[in-house]
Amino acid sequence: MQLTENQKQRYLRNTILPEITEKGQEKLLRAKVLVIGAGGLGSPVLFYLAAAGVGNIGVIDDDVVELSNLQRQVIHSEKNLGEKKVLSAKEKISALNPDVNLKIFDLRANRETLKKIVADYDFILDATDNFPTRFIINEIAHAEKKPLIFAAVKGFCGQVSVFKSYEKNNPCYACFNPNIVDENFSLPLSEKGILGAVAGIIGALQATAAIKEILGIGQGENGGEKGGEKESLVGKILIFDFLKNEFRKVKLQKNPSCKICCHS
Ligand SMILES: [Zn+2]
Repeated sequence: MQLTENQKQRYLRNTILPEITEKGQEKLLRAKVLVIGAGGLGSPVLFYLAAAGVGNIGVIDDDVVELSNLQRQVIHSEKNLGEKKVLSAKEKISALNPDVNLKIFDLRANRETLKKIVADYDFILDATDNFPTRFIINEIAHAEKKPLIFAAVKGFCGQVSVFKSYEKNNPCYACFNPNIVDENFSLPLSEKGILGAVAGIIGALQATAAIKEILGIGQGENGGEKGGEKESLVGKILIFDFLKNEFRKVKLQKNPSCKICCHS
């Protein structure tokens, strides 16, 4: 696969980066990425992955666009009210970049549906907003040995991490949330407050983490490259609190009693 003249122009600001080059751009165009959720996180994630030229994107969502979504779910417009979110997202992504093959799944992500769909993708992005689904995604990503790029937002806060619990001694999402690993656990899913710009920032970070994984940036010894200048987010979590202006990176440990990644 070689970049066309049009693609050389479109992705010029990518390819002049020594971490990407035309070779990396070809990798992005060949990548197969599954985004679960086309809402607050899914909106910036889909826009930035598509703009960067990630060539094969699947998106799962069964919701319709509501007026109260537009405050943060910037991929949807007022004219899309009442329309399926996946259709609205497809319209915007097609208009942004025809290089992207966007496959839509108008369904609710559960264990059965996910297992089938995940097989066709190399990277999974959890852009959902509820704990039960997150745990199912984590379980399937572990079982199917797919890198999981995770993000969550609430109020003025957010977190981003990458899980590859199927290799080395890396933790999974359930390792640091062991109390709620039981899938029958259900949180009251009452409306959470969230500032749209915060979802935008966290979603952009999630897209960046995914692009780094596709390109293999920072995947040397111990999750870092020589000199420690570049590292992947595997085994670490970035935690943001915009009210306190705090931005922390915390190392995550594998939990030896984790029901998902440490069972014999
Ligand atoms: Zn685990």
